[in-house]
Amino acid sequence: MSDCIFCKIVRHEIPAKLVYEDDKVICFHDISPAAPVHVLIVPKVHYKDILALNEDKDMGRDLMAAVLNAVDRVAKDQNVDEAGFRLINNCGEDGGQSIDHVHFHLIGGIKLEEKLI
Ligand code: AMP
Ligand code: ZN
Repeated sequence: MSDCIFCKIVRHEIPAKLVYEDDKVICFHDISPAAPVHVLIVPKVHYKDILALNEDKDMGRDLMAAVLNAVDRVAKDQNVDEAGFRLINNCGEDGGQSIDHVHFHLIGGIKLEEKLI
């Protein structure tokens, strides 16, 4: 997806404040942070959402394993592994997804009050 903003960040065509990167994921600070720590964990392959990722069975599982590893790395790097944090995936219109490239928000660094469930 050449016009996708997260694909452009994956290709280092537009700048981002990188926190962690490997061959499967890229992690960078959200441009409009909702908390002191707000890092986006983005699989490098373009899938429009988490359901599309799951449709590609082997690749989907590989990428989710890489996301899990990145959660651990980013939480420790940002010093929220002990205090805790929230991991969010917005999917589709009702889920509030605004960028159609699957990603996960790792949010913390403050006591998070708003809880939907
Ligand atoms: P979502 O609403 O779940 O699709 O999340 C998209 C997130 O991407 C929002 O929190 C935006 O602030 C963030 N965002 C949009 N453009 C950029 C960018 N160029 N660099 C970093 N974060 C971005
Ligand atoms: Zn993309």
